[in-house]
Amino acid sequence: MSQTQTALTIAITEAHAASNYAPVPIVLTEGDGAYVTDIEGVRYLDFLGGFSTMLFGHRPPRITAAAHAQLDRLTLTSRAFYNDELAACVQELTELTGFERVLLMNTGAEAIETAIKCARKWAHTHRALGEDEGVIITFSKNFHGRTSTIISGSDDPVARAGYGPYTPGFVTVPFGDMEAVRQVAAASPVVAVLIEPVQGEAGVILPPAGFFEELREFTTAERIVFIADEVQSGMGRTGKLFASEHFGVRPDLVAVGKVLSGGILPVSALLGDSAFLDVFTPGSHGSTFGGSPFASAVTRSVIAELRDPAFLPRVSQLGDVLAEALALLSELPEVTAVRSIGLWAGVDIDPAFAPAQAVAQELRNRGVLVKDTQGKTLRMAPPAVATETEIRDAIALIGECVSVLRTAA
Ligand SMILES: *Cc1c(COP(=O)(O)O)cnc(C)c1O
Repeated sequence: MSQTQTALTIAITEAHAASNYAPVPIVLTEGDGAYVTDIEGVRYLDFLGGFSTMLFGHRPPRITAAAHAQLDRLTLTSRAFYNDELAACVQELTELTGFERVLLMNTGAEAIETAIKCARKWAHTHRALGEDEGVIITFSKNFHGRTSTIISGSDDPVARAGYGPYTPGFVTVPFGDMEAVRQVAAASPVVAVLIEPVQGEAGVILPPAGFFEELREFTTAERIVFIADEVQSGMGRTGKLFASEHFGVRPDLVAVGKVLSGGILPVSALLGDSAFLDVFTPGSHGSTFGGSPFASAVTRSVIAELRDPAFLPRVSQLGDVLAEALALLSELPEVTAVRSIGLWAGVDIDPAFAPAQAVAQELRNRGVLVKDTQGKTLRMAPPAVATETEIRDAIALIGECVSVLRTAA
């Protein structure tokens, strides 16, 4: 194993893959629990976790076993036919979540697209809004995916630039600004609000106190569909099944993905009661792969993990350890803010000191993978198979990295 293997693999990738990512220059070849190994044989603690996806760690034994078993039985039928795994999957998912119906798709972006279509059709059929009427309110610094419709509701210039004309029907207001929501509603009919209970890409940002609850009250009163994007925050990441539960809010529609996949294949879902999901009629929405026997079997094994009464308490317990470690870290003058909820955290580094990326690189040199976001934030989503010591040590290492950069400056 030599350094050239890394360089060569990167060169081949960059020569042939479209440049829509700027990956960290390591080449991963293996994953096991909380760890990944690169092509040079170097092991890293994976605290990025596929942007929250790998809550169960890499190759969780019961989930990979379920996948292997289903691979030897039946993988794809399309929804032209019923399949046994889909039946069990939707039954178990509705039992787990308390929503009456589920529509299975593949990626998070598709689940959001499904939610947008559901809310619009519901408003057209139940509120007598014209076909071209009504707006969906999104919130600044949101991330809901990369399709052309979804970026139309984004205010991220990098995600949008050059991809117009944009889909009409979105208005973006500041995250947490209830007055701005009311103003939009006073000016035009609002079909839905589309919101992350905790904004992931923005840097693990929690809403201001009372906002999420007030938004629920307002939307209920105005018959506005409340769509929670829990693709990153949902399915146990925050210590509860849904982050919305931390605010005592039950959305009308919930989009989930990432963790639901077990890290094996793309699985996403839109959850909601019949009153909303019944707008879908045969042929009016669908996916070749969504709800395949293979995806359903994997999802069922994820549901089984989430149903284990010890699982969510373990996430919360580890989350407390993470929060304690972050509180210590926040004493450093270069660390301007720390935020966490469950096994999900953002650490802001003073931009006058160093870009977050520089700290992430130092951390990588010491065997821990995280990713910067928004230039100044280290974002992490450790797996629930990490130990308390691994979590404490990794956060302490961030402090060490800051000291090293301080000395070098
Ligand atoms: C990742 C993510 C998406 C998009 O999911 P994909 O599977 O990448 O399409 C949507 N919303 C949120 C909050 C996400 O974190």
